[in-house]
Amino acid sequence: MNTDRKALWAVRQSALPTVVRSCPDCPGTRHRASGKIRANANGKLLDVWLLLSCATCGRTSKVPVHERVHVSTLEPARLVAYEINDPAAVRELVMSASLAAKNRYRLDWTGTWELATRTPLYALDDPNPLSVQVRFELPAPVRVERLLQLGLGLSRAEVRRLVADERIRLPFAPDVKAHQDFELTLHEPGFVDTARHAKSLGAPDTERTDLARIGLPPVPGRELPRRATAHA
Ligand SMILES: [Zn+2]
Repeated sequence: MNTDRKALWAVRQSALPTVVRSCPDCPGTRHRASGKIRANANGKLLDVWLLLSCATCGRTSKVPVHERVHVSTLEPARLVAYEINDPAAVRELVMSASLAAKNRYRLDWTGTWELATRTPLYALDDPNPLSVQVRFELPAPVRVERLLQLGLGLSRAEVRRLVADERIRLPFAPDVKAHQDFELTLHEPGFVDTARHAKSLGAPDTERTDLARIGLPPVPGRELPRRATAHA
């Protein structure tokens, strides 16, 4: 798409994902990173664990990160990061899909992100297409229509209608969960104001008030009923 009109939407991190796995001490399944990493050297062999804390009972549990690896296989800087509980290293480990797969737990990304937009909405009356780059600063799976709702301040039904009308053009279906950068295009972007105006004439909609502002985090719990499809 050749257009000079570009906007940037950033999916920003607002929290770490929750680790979902059973707790040996209670019926709880939700665990948070405790912020600590434990490294234990035995001669030249090293064990490294990520420490989690059960959100229900507080029990600490360990996730093996490295088991019996030779010290020389880890970069010195990484070893130091582990030893000082470097927050960036904790973040990397708790967000790691491969660590989750290896240790057979699930990551719940609900409430971990917010959308920051600098869309020049003032220029929506410009009839030229507006290209929107969506950048992910964390690999949270985010439903595309949810992003559009937040970014444009529209309801899901309106977003779906505009996608069906090809006034919003997406690289995939609106109910897909994206977790990587992509680009979408708004054609005749004035439709956003039109849709908002039409909405304001209809029944009061509390969601509109909340989401009309830019950069609000998703409403907690809203993603939960769709969890079954969230990790497909
Ligand atoms: Zn527990």
